[in-house]
Amino acid sequence: HPSAPSLMMNAHFAGVGQDASQEEYEHGIQVIDEDKLFNSNLGTYLSLEKIIPAGFNYHLISVFGSQSTGKSTLLNYLFGTQFGVMSEQERRQTTKGIWMSKNKREGSERGMADNILVMDVEGTDGRERGEDQDFERKSALFALATSEVLIVNIWEHQVGLYQGANMGLLKTVFEVNLQLFVKDSQTTPRSLLFFVIRDHLGTTPLANLQNTLIADLNKLWSTISKPKGLEQSRIEDYFDFAFVALPHKILQPEKFEQEVEKLGTRFREGYNDPKKSGLIDEASLPVFLPQYHRRIPADGFSVYAEGVWDQIVNNKDLDLPTQQELLAQFRCDEISREVLVAFDERITPLEDRQAQDAQAGKPSVIPDLGAVMNAARSQILKDFETNASRYHKGVYTRKRAELESKVDSRLKALFQKQLSAAHKSGVQAFSDAVSGAVKSGQKKGASYDFAQIVESEKEKALEKFAADAQAIVVEGASWSTYQQETNLYKKELDEVSSRLRKEEMRRLATRVERWVRSRLDESIGLEFNKLGSGRGGSRAPEHGERPASEKDLWDRVWTIFTETVQDAERRFTDRARSFDASPEEVEVGLWRLRRKSWGVLRAKIDEEVMEGNILLKLRENFEDKFRYDEHGVPRIWRPTDDIEGLYTKARESTITLIPLLSRFKLSKTSAPPPLDAWIGEAPASVSPADEEDLSPIGGVDDDEGKSLEEEMTTISDAKQADLLIRFKKTADGVYVEAKRSAIGGMTQ
Ligand code: GDP
Ligand code: MG
Repeated sequence: HPSAPSLMMNAHFAGVGQDASQEEYEHGIQVIDEDKLFNSNLGTYLSLEKIIPAGFNYHLISVFGSQSTGKSTLLNYLFGTQFGVMSEQERRQTTKGIWMSKNKREGSERGMADNILVMDVEGTDGRERGEDQDFERKSALFALATSEVLIVNIWEHQVGLYQGANMGLLKTVFEVNLQLFVKDSQTTPRSLLFFVIRDHLGTTPLANLQNTLIADLNKLWSTISKPKGLEQSRIEDYFDFAFVALPHKILQPEKFEQEVEKLGTRFREGYNDPKKSGLIDEASLPVFLPQYHRRIPADGFSVYAEGVWDQIVNNKDLDLPTQQELLAQFRCDEISREVLVAFDERITPLEDRQAQDAQAGKPSVIPDLGAVMNAARSQILKDFETNASRYHKGVYTRKRAELESKVDSRLKALFQKQLSAAHKSGVQAFSDAVSGAVKSGQKKGASYDFAQIVESEKEKALEKFAADAQAIVVEGASWSTYQQETNLYKKELDEVSSRLRKEEMRRLATRVERWVRSRLDESIGLEFNKLGSGRGGSRAPEHGERPASEKDLWDRVWTIFTETVQDAERRFTDRARSFDASPEEVEVGLWRLRRKSWGVLRAKIDEEVMEGNILLKLRENFEDKFRYDEHGVPRIWRPTDDIEGLYTKARESTITLIPLLSRFKLSKTSAPPPLDAWIGEAPASVSPADEEDLSPIGGVDDDEGKSLEEEMTTISDAKQADLLIRFKKTADGVYVEAKRSAIGGMTQ
């Protein structure tokens, strides 16, 4: 494994070291020092040089070669860098380890590529380091793992010296290259070996030097031991070559500078040309071909470089694909955290608000939730993609899914809480709207259409819910649907509707009962009033025959009652049907109506037979029979009249009314009306709430211990006896009065 993430937390990510002045890096940065330690400020340096945001738009060059062959000098001329250069007097090694500097001549008229990073590698034929082949190998590995172009700096007089130090270096480079890129031959990056021949005298043409070098390289290639399966591989499978010769810097300083200037123009971007692979032999061709690029995003470079160096320095098997995967994991996690900051800024306040509202128990509807969620989601995924998609595809895809699910779980919670708030407030609004409409309908007195009100309010409520839900749909999020929630909402609206309909049924029942009461009040009152007329209307009764008004009083009461209730039932049914009451609900309503109506009738009868009322009726009945003749003409009493006979007959006739009025029975059957059958069995769907306000009815509700006979008793036996005595007294008074008036009439 590469360095632990804590170690890799480079300054440019943590923000540490940003104060480091530009001057500190005047000579570039020593990436690897002489003790082979990696400089953890590399990130800071890349950040200062504004490389971090470059993505893949940067290039890496390493320069190799023996000590004191003018490498640093060349780089400084080419790229305006300030690598340390040996002074003519001291002649001791200046470049130690590996230095890096950004091209300072960018943007000049030479048309160089953007963001060229140059690595100046410590010279290798170690006068001071002696036998330190180890560092040569390690630095070669490091350079190959990171660089696109390897500049090999040699003196002209070294060309052809096959046993020379350069050949040792190149051998190392070849071996290391095979070691590095053997794992995955599919993606083996090519590298450009760019030979810069110094102190070219001009006597031997460059082409000849070139041929000699190529021959030597091939020879060298054939001698190195190759891993299994790659025995037949050719040097061209891994390397392209380019050659340039420079004049003596001291002897021909102007020519040297001219040629370096020319060389500088080659550090620009080119394109892969399959026909030209192997040798870039034209002196003006660009050196940065896409195939050389190591594809490490700039913002991951320092982490990658550190990880690679860690493997190299610890002599571990350097496996670049694994390194790239680890880098991708590390960077993707880091990028996730970075992009989550902006997401949190937008989303956390909304989460807090929902939590507060929940605590306060109020439905939390955030007006612009949909817009914020959509913006936050697309922004974070876009930001992540922009930065992370440059990394290992598989890792990126996995990390993106992780981020998406993290983000979505939070958005989903927001989404669902908002839906449930919309649900709650929607149900409340619906219930309020229906009640309000009913109330205003009642106020206007006009008959309102309850079913219509419910239907239109339900439609509005569903539309509102759909609009509320649609407004928070998150684009591209598969969880962002609300069909199920809509179904639940609809279900609850239906439940509320049915509750409201029940209330409406109760109101309707109350209205119909009131109607029944007023109808019975009038019509039953009239029937009882007829008792006051002992002659029973216009038709004079036959002698000894009871007037119809008396004989079938109860039949008429029953008929009027049942007809009135039937009428009421029709009204109730029609109205209830109009608002979609179920047959069961209607059945219960009618059953209740009949019971209640009976109670109304029973109360009316009680009122009619109250002592004062009944006594008055008996007296009127008696007087009518006694004081009027059969033609309805008032009698003028004469002493010759059979006052006593008429009195007795009228009194007896009226007295028989008392037992008649005391029992509600039908004349045909002499039995009480079939109240129990008429009310009927309680419907199966009756609920305790439906029975709560009902008074028991004798003979109908068996468990009341009261018979139908008792229910139909309107005046108790004791009351009857009392009534009889009182009536007789009243009748006696009338008789005495008549007697008196007869005598008085005679006196006149
Ligand atoms: P490095 O060790 O390869 O980086 O070499 P330096 O750039 O430090 O240069 C070593 C010495 O070679 C210095 O004294 C330079 O002045 C000198 N030098 C630089 N360029 C050339 C050149 O093109 N030809 C010759 N003969 N000497 C050079
Ligand atoms: Mg040097």
